[in-house]
Amino acid sequence: MFSKIRKRRIAWFAACLAAAFSTVAVVQTAFAATGCRVDYAVTSQWSGGFQGSITLVNLGDRLENWTLNFAFPDANQKVDQGWNAEWTQSGTAVTVRNAGWNGTVAAGASVTAGFTGRFSGANPVPASFSLNGTTCTGAVATSPTPSASVTPSASVTPSASPSSADPWNPPSTLVAPLAAVWEHQEDTYSDLYGFKNYGWDQLFANNGTINYCVRWDSAKQVSTAQRDAVHAALQKQYQKWMDQLTGWNAWPYQQVKVNVVGWAVRDRAQLEWTDSSVDIYVNDIREDAPQCSEPCGRFFHQDGNYSGCTGGTSRHYDHSLWLTDGFNGGAGGDWGQRIGTEYFMSNLTTENVHVLLHEIGHTYGLDDFYDWDPLDGKQGFIMMAGSATEITEFDKWMLRDWWRHLKSRYGL
Ligand SMILES: [Zn+2]
Repeated sequence: MFSKIRKRRIAWFAACLAAAFSTVAVVQTAFAATGCRVDYAVTSQWSGGFQGSITLVNLGDRLENWTLNFAFPDANQKVDQGWNAEWTQSGTAVTVRNAGWNGTVAAGASVTAGFTGRFSGANPVPASFSLNGTTCTGAVATSPTPSASVTPSASVTPSASPSSADPWNPPSTLVAPLAAVWEHQEDTYSDLYGFKNYGWDQLFANNGTINYCVRWDSAKQVSTAQRDAVHAALQKQYQKWMDQLTGWNAWPYQQVKVNVVGWAVRDRAQLEWTDSSVDIYVNDIREDAPQCSEPCGRFFHQDGNYSGCTGGTSRHYDHSLWLTDGFNGGAGGDWGQRIGTEYFMSNLTTENVHVLLHEIGHTYGLDDFYDWDPLDGKQGFIMMAGSATEITEFDKWMLRDWWRHLKSRYGL
């Protein structure tokens, strides 16, 4: 249900990673290059028991989820307990499915999971592994990805074509790259036109405002001044994206007001204010982190019914800003943005909080660019993690492309 998160380090900073929209069942390429290598290791062994490890090396296109299958050669080999994945066994057949947080594996990246098991007699190594139904050969094969959740965009996707009256006037050098980006999104998002919880949808549901709740996934204290500075930083960074739309193609909101309506913490004493300017949620834990009340959250109530929210509709939140101690990089989606506490709190007055900007881009549907570059390396842009520290002309037009495709939803 929640978005996939992976970490990737870039030379001069650790940047984001995950485009996933949490309520899109699976974002998967309809025609994916699949290729894999699996390293299986017995990392320790004792009388009747052992610890095993598998490392999946993704030689194909980026994975949004993965299932590995293999068979134990010996009927007495059993998985007892696994980690970093869901492990199940039937007879000798073992299925290893990604955990909620490591389903996304970039092209060329790897993921490791482990288990403890039992055996008697020999403890032979499995001979063959398959990834999402395709045998891992160490080479790459291009094939239709068999997946029930892939929506064939040509046949059943509701159309959302821009009207011919809509302007489309990007700089001429960007026309072809922008078309390639849109086509790539159509190919790789499972429900590009049917999904109804993009940042756009949230913004229009609130007539041009966005409410945030902060998930303070940290052991640190927060002063009143820091609280207010977090709000100010969110407002300023958010508006940087909104400014890209000003005056173009009937965009209706010149200023988007960002409200911070709540904070979620493990311990109330971490928050050093006593006023009631925000709602405070204490020790409501989800994904091992404090969260704001689910009845108040847009992610949980996409129909806009916040009747269970203690603070009422005005205190509902659209996005979570999830700040995690020691978190390198980030993640973004319709649920909000996740970045490191240390990075964000030390950049509250930085002109461009580029990791946050990148993640907000995901909230508005923009994709990641790990495995291809529509600009052929000629210029960086904020959605290509690590290549730019501010919103560029190309980012602007990618955002505008989303707007022209979705605006008919809002009667504009
Ligand atoms: Zn990203």
